[in-house]
Amino acid sequence: MRYVSTRGGAPVKRFSEILLEGLAPDGGLYVPESFPKVDLARFRGKSYPALAHAILSQFMDDIPGLEALVGRTYTKEIFGSDDVTPLKTLEPGLHLLGLSNGPTLAFKDIALQLLGNLFEKALEQKNQTLNILGATSGDTGSAAEYALRGKRNVNVFMLSPRGRMSAFQSAQMYSLQDANIHNLAVEGVFDDCQDMVKQVNADAAFKEKYRIGAVNSINWARVAAQVVYYFKGYFEATRANSQEVSFAVPSGNFGNIYAGFVARAMGLPVHKLILATNENDVLDEFFRSGRYRPRKAAVATSSPSMDISRASNFERYVYDLLEEDGAKVNKIFASGEEADLSLIPRAGFVSGRSTHAERIATIKSVHARYGVVIDPHTADGVKVGLEHREQGVPLVCMETALPAKFADTIREALGTAPARRAGFERLEELPQRFKVLKPEAEVVKRYIEAHAR
Ligand SMILES: *Cc1c(COP(=O)(O)O)cnc(C)c1O
Repeated sequence: MRYVSTRGGAPVKRFSEILLEGLAPDGGLYVPESFPKVDLARFRGKSYPALAHAILSQFMDDIPGLEALVGRTYTKEIFGSDDVTPLKTLEPGLHLLGLSNGPTLAFKDIALQLLGNLFEKALEQKNQTLNILGATSGDTGSAAEYALRGKRNVNVFMLSPRGRMSAFQSAQMYSLQDANIHNLAVEGVFDDCQDMVKQVNADAAFKEKYRIGAVNSINWARVAAQVVYYFKGYFEATRANSQEVSFAVPSGNFGNIYAGFVARAMGLPVHKLILATNENDVLDEFFRSGRYRPRKAAVATSSPSMDISRASNFERYVYDLLEEDGAKVNKIFASGEEADLSLIPRAGFVSGRSTHAERIATIKSVHARYGVVIDPHTADGVKVGLEHREQGVPLVCMETALPAKFADTIREALGTAPARRAGFERLEELPQRFKVLKPEAEVVKRYIEAHAR
């Protein structure tokens, strides 16, 4: 598989070359030159690891030992069941796909557990070390840390906005005692954290000297890992490969739903991809109007992992919409300004948005009707999914986090705290290890200089 940049100005590369790289040198994102077509009949009935290997080997065809690596990533020990992403049927034709049974109880584990193992292997082969610098508003940071903790050739420096995450989310990150994990609690908001990462990366000499890397959602390996569960969910929700299914996806950076787009391009019979946003509705606006209007800043909501002002993976989809015209993509995304794409058909997607009151109402009604507690992000997806549900088309709603992570919102909706999985009962009481930093790039650079390996 060969990879090209969405902005058309970077050399063609193999997967092993883009794995550790992040953005392409022209500022674009790497995408496969073409999407492989698959034979569904050969995929139905496979176990999760076997399915994952069948799909991932198409994208990662220059990674020796991929099958074993995938096999030790997608296990019952790490994801709680042999199914990895179990399908729960609420009523005939309405399902929840459980993507959040990994170590940090959010769907990002599915991609990051794989990425951690891929990084470790690649760095071992090159005899290199890497210092991952990231910013998190909650779920990405913990998923990255749990994927990379204890790995010998990687350090993680994770910036988080001090006091802005749920108590569970910060306890999950800050309680890690592994020496290679550095939690940096920034006296600011998420945007400050992200700006600091950008500024450090803009210092090319520093970046090279300290081998600064990233695990952000634009990494192609993360997209590829997420393609797998669309197939898995499809097979669980259907009897025959002639049946179409719709997926409702709570969206922020457009990574999850873009994987559904890739699955469809590979031949999965997807009827509609139903995109749900919260009050940060830049993507909903795009799919309704064709106008892309990135915002200055996100507003804080009760589905915080979807609080984004511009969606990083969206560029990959626009590259496809614009028929792989890198110059046009560059014009839109290099400027960061508004774009009007209303004349280009946006087939196969529908969208909607959800407010705090609607999340609460959805959590309540799903609980009353089906006896199932869903988290606020999943609730955004269910709310919008039901608005677009069609007779005779099974609807699979992506469960992107477990309710235990967002106890305050669940208490507001249901009057009681959500159940905790075994092992998480006293999480907030564990000793925490983090360093408070001022929101300045120089401060984080000094910290990295003192602690990088
Ligand atoms: C990251 C996240 C999302 C948004 O996913 P994207 O791939 O950024 O669109 C939704 N829900 C939860 C719980 C998340 O952690």
